[in-house]
Amino acid sequence: MREEHPVVLIAPDHIPEELGGSYADACRALELEPEPGGYAVYLIDELNTRAILVSADTAPLRETKPDLRPGDHAWFAANRVAIMSVLTSPGVVGLRLGWPVELGGDPRCQFCRDPEPAWVYEGADVRVRLGKPLLDIGPPDVLGTDVVGVMDWTTCQACHELIQASEPASYQQLLQRYGDELPPMPLQAAWREFWINHRRRARPCLRPPWTAARRRRMAHDIRTHWTDWRARFPLDQVTFTGEPLPELAGMDAALDAARTYLDDPPPFGRVRAYPATDAAPELVRADGNDWSLIGALGDDPAAFALLDSAPETLHPARGPQTTILLRGLALLAHSS
Ligand SMILES: [Zn+2]
Repeated sequence: MREEHPVVLIAPDHIPEELGGSYADACRALELEPEPGGYAVYLIDELNTRAILVSADTAPLRETKPDLRPGDHAWFAANRVAIMSVLTSPGVVGLRLGWPVELGGDPRCQFCRDPEPAWVYEGADVRVRLGKPLLDIGPPDVLGTDVVGVMDWTTCQACHELIQASEPASYQQLLQRYGDELPPMPLQAAWREFWINHRRRARPCLRPPWTAARRRRMAHDIRTHWTDWRARFPLDQVTFTGEPLPELAGMDAALDAARTYLDDPPPFGRVRAYPATDAAPELVRADGNDWSLIGALGDDPAAFALLDSAPETLHPARGPQTTILLRGLALLAHSS
């Protein structure tokens, strides 16, 4: 186990954006009782196993600064602290297998960690035997591997093509897709077993079902890649018949709910504003119980809504009423 792991602070005064909403919303998403001091969520990512350690002792984390390293997921600014110092502290609430969807818990490409895998292979479930390094420094030595069964290995399209090519050169290219550095030796040992033992035929990776967590993740992705989403779904090609969109009752309800925030502010965190950058205009995000709204101000105000009642669908909104709503939400975010 590596000594340091990315860790996320979830507290009344700090709610990671990918969790969306207020502290109470974030605790509900993670099935935690709201604690006044909040939680530190340690994301443990070892070989093929992921786990989270939840601790109510947030002091070690509050003293550190975010430190995003190559290979980390870009969607959360990770702080790093030594996990061993936490394991023995009285604040540990529990250890859970897997990561919550909000923090990138979906299956990802086992090789390059692309969050949208396209293929599933049946391959070896590998246990890598590790030993102490020779001089007691540096990473552990790989003593050997044991194949203990079969498991699903998910891959993205690009890694799938390298696996299908099945040549020594394509294996080298696969190694290089891990990131700036080659994969750690224990990981390479597991990959080699996969390379030798996997079934050649892969099956398409099905998308997991739509949930509130998936909606919040998509809202986060739209906010962080606004220009790309806007280019993929040009609002100029959408026919607007009026506002609110008359053909979609769920959209009306979401926009109405967002409007009520202007008179009756929601808990801290449910409305957020992001200043303009070189890449994107000022953006606003608001979340409700079953909807998320992401909008841009600037020269051409427009918004996308995501609804739990209509999964996987972007609902665009643009026009005077949308502009007024987005400006109001931005003001609200700045004043809270
Ligand atoms: Zn990949």
